[in-house]
Amino acid sequence: MTKRALITGITGQDGAYLAQNLLAKGYDVWGIVRRSSHFGIADHRLRWLGIEHDVQYIDGNLIDLSSLLRAVNTVEPDEVYNLGAQSYVASSWQQPVLTAQVTGVGPTNMLEAIRIAKPDARFYQASSSEMFGLIQEAHQNEKTPFYPRSPYGAAKLFAHWMTVNYRESYGMHASSGILFNHESPLRGIEFVTRKVTDAVAQIKLGKLKELRLGNIDAKRDWGHARDYVEAMWLMLQQDKPDDYVVATGQTTSVREMVEIAFDYVGLEMDDYLVIDPHLFRPAEVDILLGDPGKAKAMLGWSATTSLPDMIREMVDADLVRHSANAG
Ligand code: NDP
Ligand code: GDP
Repeated sequence: MTKRALITGITGQDGAYLAQNLLAKGYDVWGIVRRSSHFGIADHRLRWLGIEHDVQYIDGNLIDLSSLLRAVNTVEPDEVYNLGAQSYVASSWQQPVLTAQVTGVGPTNMLEAIRIAKPDARFYQASSSEMFGLIQEAHQNEKTPFYPRSPYGAAKLFAHWMTVNYRESYGMHASSGILFNHESPLRGIEFVTRKVTDAVAQIKLGKLKELRLGNIDAKRDWGHARDYVEAMWLMLQQDKPDDYVVATGQTTSVREMVEIAFDYVGLEMDDYLVIDPHLFRPAEVDILLGDPGKAKAMLGWSATTSLPDMIREMVDADLVRHSANAG
């Protein structure tokens, strides 16, 4: 029998790569999309991958339990991947209540819909390294205490614990993937890697004069989204649900990442970079460094793409986008 997967957040970066990954594995892929005033679906990422017609769409919103119930009843999924969220840390200070509702309570709505309508469906929750926030250990693993530093991190932590609780209370196959930052040419333009590669491409093409950034001393453990969606799938293939850290095990400063991008196009970072105090956050997560040992041992998973290779892939994609726009 063909397996059915239901994905929330299918129009986002990870949703697009996960849909591509599951289609290649022979799944029937359904995505929940929220209504907007735009014509049709915001499917530019699915179009970039050439899979927009291979997925089936269903109307819904994480803050509307009835829509999730209807979706689960319609699709009768074997696996549910909850990737939908207000996912941008900086916006979570501007919209803390919405972030709590969508990113924190939304997954609870999804868990309830599954518990009521399809309790044997396997569930993946997109948890985040932002839950470690003010880090309590140099290498963060599944046992490291949490200390979120933003409304986003706090909302993700609530959803993480609800996932654990539904697993323990109802015996549901609910897993939490604690993923460290992962990027790609499909990353939202507001996140720092994509903001950098997009600006570097425009500067190279003579369309932009400077790149404005906030705290370039922050360090992140950056991997490639294409690698990370495979880890999500692997979690749901295990006999038992569990929590897993997914990371590269290497950390790099924003400054070094920016240098990689400028070096690639043969330009000097210092000629274009402007530090803008307005872009600093009310509280910062200074450094993240994951320990992916459990994912390697239990899932046989490890990251395959280096940060320089990924940044170069992203710059190339942005050069193509901006060159095409020129015509
Ligand atoms: P994106 O921001 O690219 O995608 C978010 C998705 O959520 C979009 O499809 C968006 O739809 C959807 N969405 C937003 N609000 C709602 C809502 N109210 N109801 C239903 N869907 C909604 O995120 P990523 O793909 O990068 O990340 C996927 C998940 O993984 C997120 O939960 C994120 O928080 C988490 N995560 C991401 C990490 C990363 O580094 N990328 C690291 C750790 C966790 P629309 O297109 O309409 O806006
Ligand atoms: P996050 O780790 O989920 O917050 O991912 P981001 O890509 O948004 O930010 C990563 C780091 O880059 C954070 O420490 C930010 O403070 C830092 N940063 C510095 N300048 C910028 C900027 O202009 N935009 C963003 N998004 N982040 C920036």
